[in-house]
Amino acid sequence: MQRSGIIHKTPADLAVAPNLGDYAATCAAFSWDNARQALAGLPGGGLNIAYEAVERHAQGPLHDRTAFRFLGDESVRDVSFGEPARLTSRFANVLRTLGVQRGERVFVLTGRIPELYVAVLGGLKAGCVVSPLFSAFGPEPIATRLNIGEGAVLVTTDGLYARKVAKVRDTLPSLRHVLVVDEEGTAAGLAGTQDLAALMAEAAEVFDTEPTQAEDLALLHFTSGTTGTPKGAMHVHGAVVTHWATGRYALDLHPDDVFWCTADPGWVTGTSYGIIAPLLHGVTSIVDMAEFDAERWYRILQAQRVTVWYTAPTAIRMLMKAGPELARGLRFPQLRFVASVGEPLNPEAVWWGLEVLGKPIHDNWWQTETGGIMIANLPALDIKPGSMGKPLPGVEAAIVRQREDGSVALIDAPDEEGELALRRGWPSMLRGYLNNPERYRKCFAGDWYLSGDLARRDADGYYWFVGRSDDVIKSAGHLIGPFEVESALMEHPAVAEADVIGKPDEMVGEVVKAFVSLKKGVEASDALRRELLGHARKKLGAVVAPKEIDFLPVLPRTRSGKIMRRLLKARELGLPEGDTSTLEAGA
Ligand code: ATP
Ligand code: MG
Repeated sequence: MQRSGIIHKTPADLAVAPNLGDYAATCAAFSWDNARQALAGLPGGGLNIAYEAVERHAQGPLHDRTAFRFLGDESVRDVSFGEPARLTSRFANVLRTLGVQRGERVFVLTGRIPELYVAVLGGLKAGCVVSPLFSAFGPEPIATRLNIGEGAVLVTTDGLYARKVAKVRDTLPSLRHVLVVDEEGTAAGLAGTQDLAALMAEAAEVFDTEPTQAEDLALLHFTSGTTGTPKGAMHVHGAVVTHWATGRYALDLHPDDVFWCTADPGWVTGTSYGIIAPLLHGVTSIVDMAEFDAERWYRILQAQRVTVWYTAPTAIRMLMKAGPELARGLRFPQLRFVASVGEPLNPEAVWWGLEVLGKPIHDNWWQTETGGIMIANLPALDIKPGSMGKPLPGVEAAIVRQREDGSVALIDAPDEEGELALRRGWPSMLRGYLNNPERYRKCFAGDWYLSGDLARRDADGYYWFVGRSDDVIKSAGHLIGPFEVESALMEHPAVAEADVIGKPDEMVGEVVKAFVSLKKGVEASDALRRELLGHARKKLGAVVAPKEIDFLPVLPRTRSGKIMRRLLKARELGLPEGDTSTLEAGA
């Protein structure tokens, strides 16, 4: 298959995305106020995410439709749209019985089990601020987040409590209640905790959704910690307008869809798109309770007849690394739309999607801070592999340069690099970093939110990721974006993942150094190293190509799947490793 050029959408592609056929017209017709009209609003006025996602469906036509399908190792459990309304009401009543008030913080630390979804939505229903944490965190990161978030309630499992929380419980002064899911049958013996199931059984099934307003805090999400200590981004109930609009325009959710978002709700993607958006659009969500396994994932896509798949470059790279044999003979005729977020999506991966899944992968860009998708390869747009796509309807993006005095200058010329900025005011914009107002202020210059990412926009209005501003390499007077170098290395058939950093150099400032992990069955050797250096030089030219390549079995990445360049750099230079609370084990 030819692997260059633009992937054009066909009339058949456009026919299944009827609202999106004309990007310019869709953007022109869009307003956030109109999007708001698509939501119900609380009967007595106000806005609450849980009401829109859950309560509204309780009596409606979706009552019996499957909202979530939980896949265990062997088991399958379906939950209908009618059920969460009752369960979340019980949970909200449990909170009230315990004396937990509106605005208090509820943390959830479990695997992707039904109780997680009930606690998140039930907490929102009660007007609490909810923070889902990734269950693979160790005791320290858990304690840090609970403390800066002043968690009053923690929902967890007996096993996680015993292994991780019990050790740090003394250091958590604000934590009043620990509610445990009895997964391993040991809940009864855990001092200082209460059994969630028992409390739920006693609680009433009716609860009037707390009448929150659009500007009330709803969710607290920690960033991935790729560039430093994770920041706690605060989001409001009004964010639900973005969740609805992006579910429609960026993910193209239709009522009959089977949607699989592979992100864990411990990261913002797993909440915005693993819980809220699919419920808003009344589609069935697949939840895989197990960890990544290439064979299993292919099987899920096929057997569950997934129509819309939202995943991440790290997962795609792992599927690519596992080799083509696993997918041989598999077909995914139901799959209509595949999207990816979290890291740059190398062109190689877009083409791989077309070859192996039968659909190209649509990259999109956003951050914990933005609360929802901001720039995307929308279903009706032709794909330029390597590009993040165009701003969503309602989102105004720009490439800017910050002046000495802090104000920003817009860069209008195409293909010029600068910082990616968004005009403030989209509904899911963060409303602050917890306990860090100074850092929050730095996100804004006048009307613009500054993302900290470098990008360029081409003459057709497509945005291209260059790198994080911290990661850009300055070599002999050139600015080199790591993404371009990594993508070129990944085009070599031996390479599974590549990652580059700037290494200080007396002559040129910095030289490009690459770290590469190889595909299954490929041996590292000096000959291969020379071959890769030559390959990169041919593709990129001598200035941009790496001067050094190290082979590593795995590259250090965050638990949300992002490669931690700062760690590679610190290790290379023998410097302290900094905050590694989100580092994947074994990396
Ligand atoms: P921290 O802010 O703690 O360093 P983080 O920025 O990795 O961590 P997230 O909010 O989870 O935390 O990730 C957002 C970042 O991920 C973006 O700023 C960008 O650098 C990267 N990213 C997300 N999507 C894309 C994409 N499609 N292409 C390139 N980079 C992306
Ligand atoms: Mg960030």
